[in-house]
Amino acid sequence: PRLANQIAAGEVVERPASVVKELVENSLDAAATRIELDIEKGGHKRIKLRDNGIGIAKDELELALSRHATSKIATLDDLEKILSLGFRGEALASISSVSRLSLTSKPAGQEQAWQANCEGRDMAVSLQPAAHPDGTTIDVADIFYNTPARRKFLRTEKTEYQHIEDVIKRIALSRPDVAFILRHNGKVTKRFTAVGEDQLASRVGQVCGQAFLQHAIHTRCEYDSITLEAWLGDASQMRSSNDCQYSFVNGRGMRDKLILHALRQAYESVLALPEQPAFVVYLTIDPKEVDVNVHPAKHEVRFQQSRLVHDFICKAICDALSSSAG
Ligand code: ADP
Ligand code: MG
Repeated sequence: PRLANQIAAGEVVERPASVVKELVENSLDAAATRIELDIEKGGHKRIKLRDNGIGIAKDELELALSRHATSKIATLDDLEKILSLGFRGEALASISSVSRLSLTSKPAGQEQAWQANCEGRDMAVSLQPAAHPDGTTIDVADIFYNTPARRKFLRTEKTEYQHIEDVIKRIALSRPDVAFILRHNGKVTKRFTAVGEDQLASRVGQVCGQAFLQHAIHTRCEYDSITLEAWLGDASQMRSSNDCQYSFVNGRGMRDKLILHALRQAYESVLALPEQPAFVVYLTIDPKEVDVNVHPAKHEVRFQQSRLVHDFICKAICDALSSSAG
């Protein structure tokens, strides 16, 4: 099973940041409202996540570490939810096949916390009692220690850490109601406090910086079943903050070509900027109008009426940029 899991890991586990993404999505699926991450050496050494979610019962720990053991399909009632976050049931198995993984958890109703460790060639799971508050801790150490070919592709600590930070920022922008704490080598590097879902602006400020929030042009437009809410940087931010470029479709982070194209066209025609400065764009659209499953990593979507969506975004952003320019 280890080999099969390692092959599957090739799809899920590209680098430390992809581990972080899978772990955080699991915590969100488990209704966590607070997620803490401890990263050591850019994730090369350790990725540790703690959440306050529903936890995993003792007799389900082993299952959680085995392939295709998703607990989610049975409880899901509609396709949209299935598509929304992971449901393949192989992230933990894959990650544990290429790292030293331990899983410690305590559901609220259970008296004792338990820790599961995966060991040896056959990935036998051993269980022992542990001390842990309600919720889950996953400790992923020595990523790719047993797959040297893959380890070779790891970049510097700094680069891998940047990817992790980007994943956290992206997710934090889609879940302002969840608190995130990120530490690197023992130092807090990001702390996002939870705010109401109606206080998106405050989370944008936490993630992209107060300077961005203060200078950004804010707009909110609706047309039929499409809503666009955006914070748009201006030319003064070209240099410092063009790393803060995030777009979301129905709450999911996307690097969608159509959205980027519409943005670029707007910036070019109003401000004559060849590239966009920082932006945070949220698009909400009737789920029936969008096909989320185009790209396996789900960074891209297909809009049924792509021309219409493109022109709507472009016009909304043109209007916002020109009203502030004038
Ligand atoms: P999937 O998320 O696709 O179901 P994973 O391999 O990511 O598959 O996770 C396996 C299972 O482990 C999940 O279905 C869930 O039951 C459990 N699990 C993983 N992480 C957590 C967590 N942080 N809190 C509660 N349960 C979790
Ligand atoms: Mg998962």
